[in-house]
Amino acid sequence: MSDGVSGCKFCEIAHHKKELHLRESDNCIVIRDIKPKAPQHYLVIPKVHISKPTDLTLADRDLLREMERLGREYLRKELKEKGEADTVEDMLRVGFHWPPMVRVHHLHLHVIYPIKELSFMSKILTFKPGKVFKTLPRVMEILEEKGNLKDEK
Ligand SMILES: [Zn+2]
Ligand SMILES: [Zn+2]
Repeated sequence: MSDGVSGCKFCEIAHHKKELHLRESDNCIVIRDIKPKAPQHYLVIPKVHISKPTDLTLADRDLLREMERLGREYLRKELKEKGEADTVEDMLRVGFHWPPMVRVHHLHLHVIYPIKELSFMSKILTFKPGKVFKTLPRVMEILEEKGNLKDEK
């Protein structure tokens, strides 16, 4: 596999900063969000450089499923180690910031838990499902309907 796109922070992490990898699968890794907004806040990034969620197509569904699975596995492990109850689905948010609200141009799936701990601003703006942030189930739904996400606002 290549070393990724030069100058891309997440390619650098994926290929050269193993110490930051919390968990790894064939095609993705889990890292900690550097500014966690909830007690559990992780990013799942693909090893291959995909710039933004609107570049995803139907062919990426398996990759998306792998990203979600890996994020959930890591979350479950963390909760277990802390002696907490297993994941409560209603308290879990998994999704992407949506262009133009994307700051790092290497696809990253946010895994946030429990969402009741999010700040007011995170709840009503930054991580609110809708225009700025789209949940993974919603992204899958649009992909299945349209085949791509390029015009999705
Ligand atoms: Zn990259
Ligand atoms: Zn983001």
